[in-house]
Amino acid sequence: MSVALETQAVGKRYRRIWALRDCSLQLPAGRVAALVGPNGAGKTTLLHLIVGLLRPTEGGLLVLGQSPGDNRDLKERIGFVAQDTPLYPDFTVNELITMGAKLNRRWETPLARERMNQLGIPLESRAGELSGGQRAQVALALALAKRPDLLLLDEPLARLDPLARREFLQLLMGSVAEGETTVLLSSHLLDDLKRVCDHLILLQTAKVQLAGSVDSLLNEHKTLVGPRRAR
Ligand code: ATP
Repeated sequence: MSVALETQAVGKRYRRIWALRDCSLQLPAGRVAALVGPNGAGKTTLLHLIVGLLRPTEGGLLVLGQSPGDNRDLKERIGFVAQDTPLYPDFTVNELITMGAKLNRRWETPLARERMNQLGIPLESRAGELSGGQRAQVALALALAKRPDLLLLDEPLARLDPLARREFLQLLMGSVAEGETTVLLSSHLLDDLKRVCDHLILLQTAKVQLAGSVDSLLNEHKTLVGPRRAR
């Protein structure tokens, strides 16, 4: 089993607040994992540690077998959509794609353009003119354009209506169906994700409450995990 993410007793403290404490987990490669927890549980902090935007106060982590931080090769293998990512409202979708190509050596411009076409999003539309659902799809399509080995999505469904949520999850699952990309997406609510994820990490007040494959958690926590759709 190859491991996409491993954390060893990772902790992050902001002044006197421990946002994350003693977090040890393993995420096998190729899984779609839900990172679930209420407000302030530490989800964003964990994602920022993985992507190298923050350094741990204690413990360590390995991402795709490497230490995150100032590591361009690793950064290019990670697709990250931050919470409420502003998409430069005055830029057209095509300009966003071209900008990505300048920043990433793995970037696949034709793939990105094709995905926008499939989504019915004109390349000449300005990001600021798109609906919330379209903006979320564009942000995801841009993150996928570098064919990431690890895709991190911070609360991508938070401001979407039910239809836009469904469309977003369809795009996500259609794009990672081959199981080559490991996905970690955070949400307040497991309900949004339990039909698509096969791995679960539950955070509460800075601690990992549960972590493991949905199959292994199913018996113990039937009401929590519930039924899901086959991938
Ligand atoms: P939400 O769902 O509200 O985004 P979250 O689960 O992503 O929450 P974090 O944003 O990681 O949680 O925050 C965890 C804790 O760390 C919270 O108590 C938060 O107030 C605190 N925190 C986060 N960022 C900072 C910061 N830059 N400075 C001080 N405290 C912070």
